[in-house]
Amino acid sequence: MSQYLVLDTTAFYAGVPYTNTTENLVTTPDVISEVSNERTRTLIALSKINVWQAGPDHYNKVKEAARRSGDNNMTKADMSVLALCLSIAADGNDAILLSDDFAVENVASRLGIKARPLMTNGIKNVSEWVFFCPACGKIYTKQRADCLVCGTKLEKRLKKN
Ligand SMILES: [Zn+2]
Repeated sequence: MSQYLVLDTTAFYAGVPYTNTTENLVTTPDVISEVSNERTRTLIALSKINVWQAGPDHYNKVKEAARRSGDNNMTKADMSVLALCLSIAADGNDAILLSDDFAVENVASRLGIKARPLMTNGIKNVSEWVFFCPACGKIYTKQRADCLVCGTKLEKRLKKN
């Protein structure tokens, strides 16, 4: 049995130094595309991060759990890491999710996934989420389900400082 640390998008943006570790690090293609910028690309290149994709069965199980708990604002990347945790556990290995995202942690606990908060006291303010309307472009600093202007479902991205 091997132990895997599963990284979500917040784990990347926290700037945790993943280059100097002997742990098995994994993430998903959806997380990579969500966090992809110059800094994270370098981080990924320097790290021994495996990029794996869970099957649709695990993904659907996560989607259902998120729906039931009311965590409707989760991104595809958020759900993909949880699905990957389920997939690793189903193979008889140990998956530990690294996340600072409340919704992700909430759904993880419902699915019996072990989660570890990031060791980022002090650098937690490096980035924060902003919510934006993909239709009209209005920016919201507080999380809400849909746009006050046009009613479109909001998406989130990280505010760069
Ligand atoms: Zn709008």
